[in-house]
Formats: sequence, structure tokens, C-alpha cells
Amino acid sequence: MYINSENLLPKLEGQAFGIDIEFSNNRICLIQISDGKEIYLFDPIALNLEQYMREFFKNDAIKIFYSGAQDLKWLKNEYQIVVNNYCDLKVLAQKEPDLSLIALWKKYCGVQFEREDKKRLQKSDWFARPLTEEQLFYAALDCKYLVVLREILLQQYTEEEQKSIHFSTDLKEPKLLRYLKKQLADNQDVLLPQKIYRHIKFQEPFQTDDLKVIGLIEQLTKKHHQDYQEQKRQRFLQFQEKFTTHKPVYSNCRIYSLSGQQLCCCDQKKISWYVKNGLGEYLDEKSIKLNFDPVCEFDEKEMKFYNEERSNRCVICGASTNILKYQIIPYMYKHYLPNHYKSHRAHDVVILCARCHEKASAQQDKKRAEIAKLYEVPLQHYGEEKLVVDKLSHVLKKYESLTKAGKHFDMMQYEDIRNQFKDLIQLPAEFDKQELTKINDKLKKELKNSHGEAVVKKLDTDEKIEEFIMIFRKHFLSSMDPQFLPKEWAIDHRFKRNFGEKSVYYQKEEQNDQNKQDIQQMDQQLIQK
Ligand SMILES: [Zn+2]
Repeated sequence: MYINSENLLPKLEGQAFGIDIEFSNNRICLIQISDGKEIYLFDPIALNLEQYMREFFKNDAIKIFYSGAQDLKWLKNEYQIVVNNYCDLKVLAQKEPDLSLIALWKKYCGVQFEREDKKRLQKSDWFARPLTEEQLFYAALDCKYLVVLREILLQQYTEEEQKSIHFSTDLKEPKLLRYLKKQLADNQDVLLPQKIYRHIKFQEPFQTDDLKVIGLIEQLTKKHHQDYQEQKRQRFLQFQEKFTTHKPVYSNCRIYSLSGQQLCCCDQKKISWYVKNGLGEYLDEKSIKLNFDPVCEFDEKEMKFYNEERSNRCVICGASTNILKYQIIPYMYKHYLPNHYKSHRAHDVVILCARCHEKASAQQDKKRAEIAKLYEVPLQHYGEEKLVVDKLSHVLKKYESLTKAGKHFDMMQYEDIRNQFKDLIQLPAEFDKQELTKINDKLKKELKNSHGEAVVKKLDTDEKIEEFIMIFRKHFLSSMDPQFLPKEWAIDHRFKRNFGEKSVYYQKEEQNDQNKQDIQQMDQQLIQK
């Protein structure tokens, strides 16, 4: 339906609309909107559509464009319109082998349209009147199937994914700006940062398409973005300074059995441990001979792995400066694995440079988020103590504000908490603000994120543990594409190790406290990123 007079303007009602815009001579020449059934071709040359379109783009219906970044710009520049609930079909089609609109028409709608024709018509003169039959047909086609295509493509996504895809105005836009724009569109001005709020709180009614405010947000978020980048850089430099080394990490010492077989390549500490305990003697500075023949549990391939000399360079990019160890199995899980799964420092601890370490850690974080879902243990997992802290804090705050206002505080609320958690913690019978604040602060300090422990608890068979270890090995391989891993490194490298009673590992977990602290500190830094 071609709309070129006021009385033809339809009442656009629906959940979702497909939209396209034609542009010539530096102005919007045609706006095509379809609700999935009817197609409306609005003629902005014959009509003043500004107010009408502003209302429409502000409403809550989903506005589906195909690669609409340019359309958004035109709408903003010419009509000062900010589109609410924008959906880009091209983004939605990212799981398709061919995500062009023409391919989607052909695959899902049985429509054959030539690429050349599309290009030619796109560039045709849309300012001319009347538009040709061919132009009108093409213009209608461009918006006709967007609604149904969105429904089809959405089926390729989980519910969680769908949420984030719906409202992605522009993938390149900083996240905060996107978020603020959505809030603006929803009129949630009170949630805006103080700085912006100061500028708009006296303007009533609040305009969601206020260019000044949008400009201000853009400025602030850009600055925020720059600040954020700078902070990130600083953190990286600190991290690099604190945790990396230019010295070799591997000393490549060697251990030989009594009968002269080379057993493994290891660090200085290990060989001196054997000597100190009277189990072997030095051949030279970097090698020892044991005074017994240990039972060897390795096959040939594994022997090769443990005897391979380790290069002191990043296994991903090969850099040999600013290097440090990287745990392929995150420490937060590894720490809780049974001992015989833990001692794979040679295999699951590799050397990375600081840059690659940063990237790999970010990738590992993503994987951990998936693990959290898969094992149904949130990344922030606290025990019941957290509940006590939350409730106590709430009640203490409430008490404070009520007393300040000279009002009565209902002690029953405290009594409820005391009863609810009586098996967990002994709270004083009388409400005593100072005493309770002390208890609460102490609890807060002792709260421990037990995500890792809770996940590992679910790994109650060897198969599950091995599967879990493989997830991270595979992920490291696929996400980082390391080029310098030891030749014999393998995703299914033996998981368990049984140690002879003379082995250094047979002793209690040989990990000194400083080491542990460093790793925890590193985890902390990474979380802050
Ligand atoms: Zn590297």
C-alpha cells in the first residue's frame, strides 16, 4: 500500500515490524514498513512524516532492519529519531553459511532475486516521482519477509542469546552507550549516571530523542571508554611487571635411573630434592642419577613427552620475554581435584607471554561462564553465610534509617533472621546494632566464593573429571591456536598419575605457600579485569 496522503496513514500495531529505507539526493525518499502481512510504502516527499515516524520508532515493537546501521543514521540525522528495540537481521543470520538477504529469501521464502538487480535498484533514483513499478516491487520486497525471517532465524538461538541479540543497536557501540540508550528509550532517566541526570532533571517532560542528552552520553561514554582502556592498560603493565620474568622458567634438568635410562626433564628443585633425600647423586650441575630403578608407568609417547626439553618461550606466539606460567586448567578447579590429577604441571601448565596470557585468560573466563551454566553453579557461588550477610545488612540499614527518622523498628524482623539461621550461626538474643555490625563484618570478610569447589564436587567419577580436564585443554587449543606446544602435548594426555613412594609427588602436595599466594593474587587481578 502506497501512503502519500494523511488520511491513508495506518495505525501500526503489532509486536514486530520489518523496515527498510531508500535514500537519494541526500534525503530519505521512501520508508517501507511491514508488519509481516501488510506492506506500507510511506512517501516522505509527499508527506511530513516526522511526528508519525517518531511515535512509531519510539514504541516497544521490535524494529527489524537488515544491516540497518546506515538507516539508523539517516533517521537520526533527518528526523532526530532514535530507534527503540532495534533488531539487525544480518546479525541474527550470523549462523547461516550465506547471510546475504538474497540467500535468505531464496532459502526460506522461495524468492529468487538477482544480486545485480538488487544492486542496480538500490542505486536507482528514489527521489523521482512516480517511482517505477520495478522500484516499488523491490522496495516492498525489501521489507516484506523481515518479520518471518526473524522468527525463523531466532530458532537457532537459545533464550539467553536471543535477549542480547534483540537490542543490539550497533555492535561497535560501547556497551554502556547501548545500555543507556535503551534506558533513555524506556524513559528510565533516574537510572542515568549522576553527570547526565544533572543536565536533564529540570527538563520536563523528559525527551528520549533529545539530541543534547544523546550527545552528552556519547561524550561521556567515549570518555568512559578511553578511561577504561587506559585503566586496562595500566593494570596490564602492573600485571606484567609483577608476574613475568625474562629469565628461563624451565631449567631442563635431567634425572637418570640407576640403569641409566633417562626418566624426565624437570626443574632444579626436583633434582636437589632427590639428592637431599639420599635417593640419587649429581652427575653434573643439571643432572642426577637415582640409586634405584623406579617402576615406570609411562608408555613410549609419554616418556617422550616428559623427556622433551622445554623451550622458555610463549607456547602461543613464541616470545621469550615477559613470560610466565599459565594454568590450562584454572587453579580454582584444579585446587580441589584429587591429588593424582593435580600434578600435571608439565602438561597443563605452559609458558605464555603477558599478552597471550591476558588473551588466554579472557578466553578462559568465557569458558568458565559456560562451565557455570553447564554444571549449574554460578560463578559467584557463596554458601548460606552470604544469605545471613545480605539479610543482616538489610535489617541494619533499615534500623538505621528508621531510627534516624524517629520511627519504630519492628524487632520481629530481626527475630526471624535469628531463627532462620540458628543452626548456622548464634546471633545475640537482643538486637544490638554495634554487636551485630561487628558480626556481620566478620562474616562478610570470611565469605568465600566456592564456585570451583562446588563444580569439582559434581565431578564424582574419573570419567567426569577427565571430561572436565579435556574441556579446558580443548578450549585452550581451539581458542588460542598455540604454535609452540611441546610436540607430544595432547588433549587426551594421561590424566592420572600414580607416584612411587620415593617420588617427590608422593609426599604431600608439594606447593609452597608463596606459589599459592601468587596464583590467588593473579586470579584476583584477572577477576578485576
Ligand atoms: Zn605470546
